[in-house]
Amino acid sequence: MRALAVFPGKRELRMIEVPAPVRRGEREAMVRIREVGVCGTDREIAAFKYGTPARGTDRLVLGHEALGEVVEVGSSVRTLAPGDLVALTVRRPCDDATCVACRVGRQDFCISGGFTERGIRGADGFLTEFVVEDERYLVRVPRSLAEVGVLLEPLTVSAKAAVDLDAILRRYPWEPLGLRALVLGAGPIGLLSAMMLVARDATTFIYSREPADGDRAALARSFGAEYLSAGDTPLSALPARIGPADIVFEAVGTAQVAFGALAALAPNGVLILTGIPSAHAPIEIDLDRIMRDIVLKNQVLFGTVNASRGAFEAAVRQLEQFKGLFPDALQRLITHRAKLDEVPELMRRPRGIKQVVVIGA
Ligand code: BGC
Repeated sequence: MRALAVFPGKRELRMIEVPAPVRRGEREAMVRIREVGVCGTDREIAAFKYGTPARGTDRLVLGHEALGEVVEVGSSVRTLAPGDLVALTVRRPCDDATCVACRVGRQDFCISGGFTERGIRGADGFLTEFVVEDERYLVRVPRSLAEVGVLLEPLTVSAKAAVDLDAILRRYPWEPLGLRALVLGAGPIGLLSAMMLVARDATTFIYSREPADGDRAALARSFGAEYLSAGDTPLSALPARIGPADIVFEAVGTAQVAFGALAALAPNGVLILTGIPSAHAPIEIDLDRIMRDIVLKNQVLFGTVNASRGAFEAAVRQLEQFKGLFPDALQRLITHRAKLDEVPELMRRPRGIKQVVVIGA
């Protein structure tokens, strides 16, 4: 069967032929991959800046945002049947007996650092035709979400963040005032996170570099967020323009923007960091002022990466809610559908907001 692989040592990205996987364990299911989303992490891997092949091989099959269909199950599989749609989780546990996170199925909090991530680190991904997987790593998706289910993996970023956010928000009585939120970045994660905030009745602003009369701005407005372009409002002018934000949700992967936006964070506010910046030359930043503000304003900064099975299940519920609330916006987020052999080109030249690779129907 076909697969799209990166060879970091040779700096190559190309289609390869790999043997079809064989279901061995009774708890395993065979999944036909239907669609795979392409994100910034994939582009970094395709540009040989991130990503690690599995031990003993020089290539990594890409793809980690997948929606598939179960075609065959082992006799001990309880939660799935052939014909079910599934989202595939990304991270697999380490084998360190002392890693309590991995031992209880919370490898998104792996302590040892020995985890693998399908399509990213030490394990092949889903840009291929069939995958065999333990049922623990497959999350059932209702048929009603077939069109947009490929968005589940990026949506888990905000689904996981929301759990920590809710715990922090319980600190003080913000309810009478309502929440104001600022999302940095209008990529798929920024837009999905803004939908999550709008769905929670937060007054939501999205700040990004694309123009205020562009597609992303129109999309943001269509589901009730206000869009501000960095072209019109420099970061330094943002606090005066939007007023204090109780939540700043960073989805842009640039430290300068993330920390620059701290000036817009309200007293008792929460800054959520989700982007993974690539290495750049160090920048100068007034850390004393930042620390003084964080302490004197009771602010919280937290980072969040990867998602547990629970976050995938929460994302399924959230996607069903969004489908009811903003059906058009959700569809419009997927701007381009491509074939597997078009992926190398897509990696080099991204188009629109979310690109999805269609593999099997
Ligand atoms: C993936 C996560 C992963 C992270 C770091 C993201 O693009 O969605 O599952 O943990 O990259 O590798």
